[in-house]
Amino acid sequence: MPVSTLPTGPSIALVCLLIGFLCQVARHYRRDPALLLVEMGTFAAGVGIPLVVMRPTIPDFIAIPFGNGALMFALALFWQAVAQLNGKQFSRCGLAAPVLIWLALCALPQFRHSLGMRVEIAMVMAITLVVLALWQLIRLPRETRSHQMLIIVSGLHVLSCVARGLLVALPSLARWVPLMLATIPFEMLTYVVLWPGLMLTLVAERAVLEARAAALRDDMTGLLNRRGFWQMAEHVPQRGMLLFDIDHFKRINDTFGHATGDSVIRHFGTVATAVMDREAVFGRIGGEEFAAAVSGLSADELGALAERVRAAFERTPLSDELLATVSIGYAPATVSDRSLGEQMALADAALYCAKQRGRNRVEGGTPNRGHDSGDLAIWAGPTRLPLSGPKMIDITMG
Ligand code: GH3
Ligand code: MG
Ligand code: MG
Repeated sequence: MPVSTLPTGPSIALVCLLIGFLCQVARHYRRDPALLLVEMGTFAAGVGIPLVVMRPTIPDFIAIPFGNGALMFALALFWQAVAQLNGKQFSRCGLAAPVLIWLALCALPQFRHSLGMRVEIAMVMAITLVVLALWQLIRLPRETRSHQMLIIVSGLHVLSCVARGLLVALPSLARWVPLMLATIPFEMLTYVVLWPGLMLTLVAERAVLEARAAALRDDMTGLLNRRGFWQMAEHVPQRGMLLFDIDHFKRINDTFGHATGDSVIRHFGTVATAVMDREAVFGRIGGEEFAAAVSGLSADELGALAERVRAAFERTPLSDELLATVSIGYAPATVSDRSLGEQMALADAALYCAKQRGRNRVEGGTPNRGHDSGDLAIWAGPTRLPLSGPKMIDITMG
């Protein structure tokens, strides 16, 4: 059979079946409602396009209402799929309205018998639905190639619909009819392959980006984990480093249980985040150990910031019975020409010093000037607050 006589409708339906199947496979790995909508949209296009292209083999009373109706449904589903990616509520009304309007119009004899009117209204409805999808697409964070491609494809779809509508409305443009016919294969391709394929890729790309971001986050606190902190801190200019270690944390676990210990860790994360500038890169780098990289502070300012965190944590105990404290070591930006590892080691040595000197205090480390070895000169934090109140169980005492 020559290629030109291969049945177009069944071929298109087969392609849609295949892409719908790919959506199903993808849904097996990621339960994203947008994927279900794309899958349904692909199947709807797989019904609609064969019905439209196989006229007059298929009688008009089936092809006109159900062919275009299915295509309206496919567009509405694609629109709703992007809206889902934007975190919008699923709209049954938005899905049903275009189909019901089209079916209601098809009930009118003058509409059924006027090709011009049908094309005009179909174009207006398609343009409306694609513009709605485009609006949702534009509001998605622009982070992937498939997202940019979807915007381009939707824009071209709108343009082709506008061109077709104009050609039907203005008979003087009749010489441009070949152009109008050239847009039809593009639109078919959009319904059958471009939209579903690009949406599938977009969902997959977002899943990869989310997984990458999750790999840099600590589940318990939502803060950066050690790897995330390391990656982000390296890019902080004029970096001052702070290392935090909750005092006698093992005793908190032993006295109050691990669940309370976890709450103390989360609580410290919240308190320190609130005290530090939003510009600080802050993460949980170990069990009860945290680190922050802050840009552009002098040694004194960094020490004062550390002291504010220490005091805020001490001032806001999780409960009246539990007084937890934190020791902090810091390495100011004067040593930022050193690698992050060296700066961490310097802050760690200062933290060790804070532990040695009784905990619940701030110590600063600067390299011993004139020595290449980077030996520490320790700067003592400004204030020391009492460790326990009368009713508190002081977990800092033995
Ligand atoms: P220091 O004042 O010298 O820092 O003493 P410490 O008891 O805080 O330090 P140590 O390193 O001896 O103990 C830390 C404890 O933190 C040991 C470990 O069981 C506990 N830990 C580590 N990760 C977690 C966690 O995610 N949740 C809880 N509840 N405990 C944790
Ligand atoms: Mg520790
Ligand atoms: Mg500790």
